[in-house]
Amino acid sequence: MATRSNSRLADSILYPFANIGHLTENPPVVVESGEGVYITDSTGKRYIDGQAGLWNVNVGHGREEIKEAIKAQLDRISYYTIFGGTTNMPSVELAERLCQLTRPEGMVRAFFSSGGSEAVEAAFKLVRQYWRLRGEAAKTKIISLKRGYHGVTLGALSANGITSNREYFEPLLPGFIQVETPHLYGNPYTQDHEELGRICADMLEREIQYQGPGTVAAFIAEPVQGVGGVIVPPANYWPRLREICDKYDILLIADEVVTGFGRLGTMMGSRHWGVKPDIMTFAKGINSGYIPLGATMMNAKVAEAFDTGDAAQFSPKAFAHGNTYAGHPLACAAALASLRIVEDENLPENAGRVGAYFLKRLKEVQSRHHMIGDLRGQGLMIGVELANPETGRPFDISRNVGGRISDHCREKGVIIRNLADTFIISPPFVLETGHVDEMVDTFEEAVASAG
Ligand code: PMP
Repeated sequence: MATRSNSRLADSILYPFANIGHLTENPPVVVESGEGVYITDSTGKRYIDGQAGLWNVNVGHGREEIKEAIKAQLDRISYYTIFGGTTNMPSVELAERLCQLTRPEGMVRAFFSSGGSEAVEAAFKLVRQYWRLRGEAAKTKIISLKRGYHGVTLGALSANGITSNREYFEPLLPGFIQVETPHLYGNPYTQDHEELGRICADMLEREIQYQGPGTVAAFIAEPVQGVGGVIVPPANYWPRLREICDKYDILLIADEVVTGFGRLGTMMGSRHWGVKPDIMTFAKGINSGYIPLGATMMNAKVAEAFDTGDAAQFSPKAFAHGNTYAGHPLACAAALASLRIVEDENLPENAGRVGAYFLKRLKEVQSRHHMIGDLRGQGLMIGVELANPETGRPFDISRNVGGRISDHCREKGVIIRNLADTFIISPPFVLETGHVDEMVDTFEEAVASAG
């Protein structure tokens, strides 16, 4: 219940994706500080941060190395533009670092922006201009997956495959098409994961043939779908995506906003599937969320189309896009420090190991509680979906079972995010198995009490 002192928390902010009435009655927790996997609220209560902020604070909260890097840059200059013939060294060094880190994927240049939606937006404009420059002006369409999430700006949103994100804003941009995602749980086609991968890849191929390959610019997907409910595709799916894109001369964009920099247990999500995309989008974990930053990486094939080889200041080949905060030196300095921690502490490996333990512990819980309909994940990206044990179907949404479980966990000092009746677990990579035990025990207790 709101008190006089905390009712103002919801009076002036319009919170993202939140019901005003709900937040007025249930004021948000005021987060005041953080250290490692923990955050502390304004009453001094401590929580394990099971969502790493918004799956971005990968190296944990309050890292001195990142604070020092930001302060050192702040003492030099806080901001200067990289438009029009000036640059700054943190952005140059970060671009080099990103190219190094994505060498196995073949990335050669970085385009900077301020977050995931902008990184995706830039990718879409990049592929459209790319095909124009290649003399294929009709190749404009973008194909994506149902349940995919690529951001909220109108371009990125047009590729989203989540109905609740889209419905208020339609009509979205023309030329965006969604095809079936290989989601095993509850699908009507097959219970064989690999076969489902083949079926869904064939559906994509048929859609490309239907649209006409000469009209399709790119296909975009997340290596593991995140907001859509942590949907892990079968191992044959991404290699087939690459084959299909090659066959029809379509660019493959891997949206690595969540999966980049270690969350799946490999430095890149694409690497987990052994696939080289043409473009990769980054944000979130690029600098563990210390300052907003996005990046759109491209391979040589894409980059070369923008390279005139002449010295004219203005060229029709210049990428006609850019935001004020492109290459923000504070954000780039934070990224360099964060990526150093990721490498020095071998955090992708930790994410893989601790994530496997987390899944194993949750499987034990699932065997004791029939309310857990499905459990899936890779590394520290885990989804738990509830089902009504009496019907095997989702609970009536009005029962708010997922919300009650999440509230119970929060009460006990564990933050576990729920999107309706699916829990999304995405802690910082510095998580240890002891934290996992505490989280799983609390979660089980909450599930038992929600029955
Ligand atoms: N792509 C993916 C895969 C995401 O998960 C998100 C955010 N959850 C975005 C893009 C958009 O990022 P942002 O919220 O920083 O705009």
